[in-house]
Amino acid sequence: MSSKTKRFILPEDEIPEQWYNIQAEMVNKPMPLLHPATHKPLKAEDLYPIFNEACSDQELNQTDAWIPIPEEVRDMYKYYRSTPLVRAYGLEKALDTPAHIYFKNESVSPVGSHKLNSAIAQAYYCKQEGITNVTTETGAGQWGAAMSYAAKVFGLDLAVYMVKVSYQQKPYRRSIMQTFGAQVTASPSMSTRAGKDILTADPNCSGSLGCAISEAIELAQATPHCKYVLGSVLSHVSLHQTVIGLEAEKQMAMAGEYPDMVIACFGGGSNFGGVSFPFLRHKIDGTHTDTRFIAAEPSSCPKLTHGKFEYDFGDESGYTPLMPMYTLGHNFKPANIHAGGLRYHGAGTIVSQLLKDGLMEAADIPQLESFQAATLFAQAEGIIPAPESSHAIAATIREALKCKTEGKSKVILFNLSGHGLIDMTAYDMYLSGDLQNYTLTDEEIAKYLKDVDVLQ
Ligand SMILES: *Cc1c(COP(=O)(O)O)cnc(C)c1O
Repeated sequence: MSSKTKRFILPEDEIPEQWYNIQAEMVNKPMPLLHPATHKPLKAEDLYPIFNEACSDQELNQTDAWIPIPEEVRDMYKYYRSTPLVRAYGLEKALDTPAHIYFKNESVSPVGSHKLNSAIAQAYYCKQEGITNVTTETGAGQWGAAMSYAAKVFGLDLAVYMVKVSYQQKPYRRSIMQTFGAQVTASPSMSTRAGKDILTADPNCSGSLGCAISEAIELAQATPHCKYVLGSVLSHVSLHQTVIGLEAEKQMAMAGEYPDMVIACFGGGSNFGGVSFPFLRHKIDGTHTDTRFIAAEPSSCPKLTHGKFEYDFGDESGYTPLMPMYTLGHNFKPANIHAGGLRYHGAGTIVSQLLKDGLMEAADIPQLESFQAATLFAQAEGIIPAPESSHAIAATIREALKCKTEGKSKVILFNLSGHGLIDMTAYDMYLSGDLQNYTLTDEEIAKYLKDVDVLQ
């Protein structure tokens, strides 16, 4: 056994005091969000009817690179941060690679994923502004679980629309939300106009994030003192998640290394942005121009690798602002893969602009490769990864094996966004050979993209 340090932790007073707002330093800033009715560039005030004011302001802030983390939020972070940066010696050995592999372990948060970093902030701001009720959607249930806990901590009532297929596949995530005191409804439901319309068109609809978002926004608008909160995609969510990368930057320095590659799985972009933006800052300022940033998405929902950069809606019914992003079209129906958190049709506007400008890359990972990677990682490191995080592990393994072939020792940092202890049904199916790959043909993708021209 080696006696080298395996795990890097920061003392409490080194937990970041500010989040990093990459928008302020991007050379090409994201194009503006557009009002869904007028198609005019959105002002923060246009978002106030739906979101709390602090997050609305953060969403459109392209001038302040550093945003103070409120003391109450930082105080909650102290219950589980800093999260460990771990050198994955076990995985390196299993792969026989000269690469140095590190992972940032966000699975140690009380709810088991990175989602709590933004849930705490959003619940705090709602409370500050006198809001009593919040609504949201959840795919696999991690965001719902995080938001349920955060709402409880700050004394808010939460209603969650959970994508129906996940509601059925992952009943324990529903129980977790209910244990924290949230009200959970399977989406599409008959409780909203958006849900009714979708169920009328397709009574067997198993739901999508786009549809659950429509339902949650509709309920927020119909309820007094109620706002909507979102766990991914939007720029303010990625902003809150930069606490991950800011810690990792200090922890990598403790390890005496700087990453050649930063890798994260990609649903809407919040954990990817969270771990990578603080390092991308050094690519922008010219101090580390060679670092590669890789977003790992599922082959069955490949907006970054096969989508189109267009203005599109964030939800199925067209309630959200129009966002300039890589998208598969807001009517895209993803296959029922087990990485529920990665089944979203679009991508955040910041990440979309960065990809367009060649500052980052994307890789698409088939479902079986993700589970194979997850199993190898579990056996090597003792942690069962979330099916979402497994996409980052698979991309890391691809790169580590390339290092082996090329005989190069590169430093790879990936984000372990969550654990998969509540996803064992999916692992059971993988182990018994009942999982399959879903690959989309170009024709299928073109069919969904045909309707994307929402500005015409
Ligand atoms: C929600 C989720 C994701 C995907 O969302 P991003 O906003 O892209 O990070 C990834 N991993 C886990 C564990 C999640 O809960």
